[in-house]
Order: sequence, then structure tokens, then C-alpha cells
Amino acid sequence: MRVVRTIADLRALLRPLKGEGKRIGFVPTMGFLHEGHGALIRQSAARCDATVVSIFVNPTQFGPSEDLANYPRDLERDQNLCLEAGTTVLFLPEVAEIYPTGFQTHIEPGRLADPLCGRFRPGHFRGVATVVAKLFNMVQPDLAFFGQKDFQQTVVIRRMARDLNMPVDLVVVPTVREADGLALSSRNAYLGEDARRRALCLSQGLLAAKAAFDEGELDAARLLAIARGPLAGVDSLQYLELVDTQNLEALQGPVDRSAALCVAAYVGATRLIDNVLLVPAVSDAPGNGS
Ligand code: AMP
Repeated sequence: MRVVRTIADLRALLRPLKGEGKRIGFVPTMGFLHEGHGALIRQSAARCDATVVSIFVNPTQFGPSEDLANYPRDLERDQNLCLEAGTTVLFLPEVAEIYPTGFQTHIEPGRLADPLCGRFRPGHFRGVATVVAKLFNMVQPDLAFFGQKDFQQTVVIRRMARDLNMPVDLVVVPTVREADGLALSSRNAYLGEDARRRALCLSQGLLAAKAAFDEGELDAARLLAIARGPLAGVDSLQYLELVDTQNLEALQGPVDRSAALCVAAYVGATRLIDNVLLVPAVSDAPGNGS
């Protein structure tokens, strides 16, 4: 595994690989890596000839009152995880490398950035889209790997790549969870013992709704009510929504197309998000082409 800190060094390493027609996979991260990131890197290593992982805590996606300054870091552990998971190149840029003096051009995502997290984190997806577009230009990957955990991010980035004709395919990797269901997150490091216990409310609500859906409950309002039950244990619920996976619009009535049940909540001072996909079985009724 090679470790590089500048765009010039990154390009110098990747140029010969691209010249040989190697397939490049890319996993953008903010570090403090866990097995969720590990799953992305392993998938890339399995499907690509070379895997680039970036660790960059992107200031433009944090709001003024968010946890940028305290975002957890452990570079030594991150390097070991990257190496063990099959990383070829680890890119560790400084902020000035990504945003040099005079930087002023941003990606403005459209409506997909407005609901869900966009409502509570103004400017967040503008920052995410901008840094991901820049990283895509630096790495020029064939495949880029993102976690289902950040569902709205995958939708916004896929739209951006299509709208701006970026020659990259997105691969979305299922959320990796602890044995008790808690979605792995770098921010779980903030949770004390009591908060860790109460953080389970998120996945308990979502997984209960998913179980009901799998057993035939299709009504959006009833599924939301099932998920809301356990969420009484959080300190403040930002949103619990069941949305169409394509346009992120709230679903009403029966879940008759792919939907995501998404939650964001504070447990103590820690903001956590999670989601599950609810995908209706393909109907064999005549007239739908099957
Ligand atoms: P982050 O470092 O939090 O910006 O995350 C980097 C990438 O890892 C994003 O694509 C996340 O969606 C993904 N990721 C984070 N947590 C998980 C998880 N528990 N399972 C799968 N992917 C994850």
C-alpha cells in the first residue's frame, strides 16, 4: 500500500495503472475507519485492479455548530485497516491541498438535497457533492463505493455523476451493523454507555418496521408507527420518513415501489442516522411486464 498526501503524487501513482487499462476503485472516507468502511474497501479490492481510499475530513460539509473540530481521528489504526482490507493507494490530503487559497467553485445539488438530512444540515450536500466531484477528478475511478448507511448521499452523488456526465459507476454497499443491530459509524465513538444503549432505538425501530413489511404490512402510516415506537428512547428525533428511493418524496398509502425508511436523531449530543430499504416483491400480476 502506498500512502500519498498530494494530488500530484496521487496522479503520478495512478497514471501508469490507468495506462495499463487497470480498473480503479475508489472509496472516499472521513477516517476513523470501521468495518463499514472495511466492507467498501473489500468490495472495491474484489472488483477492481487497484483501490484508492481517501481520508479527508471535509470542512465544507460541516455546519458551524457541528463536530468538525472534534471529529474522531486515529490515523495509525486507519492505515492498518486500509492495508488489511486491500487498499492499493491511501490518499491523505491536507485541507489546503483540497481547498487552496482562492477556491470558490462549488457543486450545487438540486432538489434531492432538500429533504431528510438536507432540511437539518443546510449546505451539507453542497459540501459533499463538491468534495466528491473534486476527488472523482483527482482519482478518475471506474467504480466508486458508497455505503447504504448514508442513503441520501448515494442518491445525491448518483444524480450528480449522471447530470455532470462523470464516467464513474456508483456501487452502494449494504449497511454493516453491530451484532445488536446498531449501524457502525465513526460517530458511535462519542457514545457513552447509556447513550450506546439508547442508540439502539434507531435500528430497533427500523428493523421492526422492516420485519412487519416483510410479513406483508404495506401501509406507510402503519410502518412509520411501528418504527416510531422504540424511538421514544432518543433525546430528539429530527425525522422519521418513508420515501421513494428515486425522488426522495414521502410515500403515502401502500408501499408499491422501492422505499427507504430513514431516521435521524440525537442521542445525547450525538447525531445518528440510519435507514432500511423496503423493496416490494415483484408482482406477477399481468400487465407489469413480468
Ligand atoms: P464517512 O467516513 O462516514 O464519510 O463514510 C465513508 C463511507 O463509508 C460512506 O460511503 C459511508 O456511507 C460508508 N459507511 C459508513 N458507515 C457504514 C456502515 N455502517 N456500513 C456501510 N458503509 C458505511
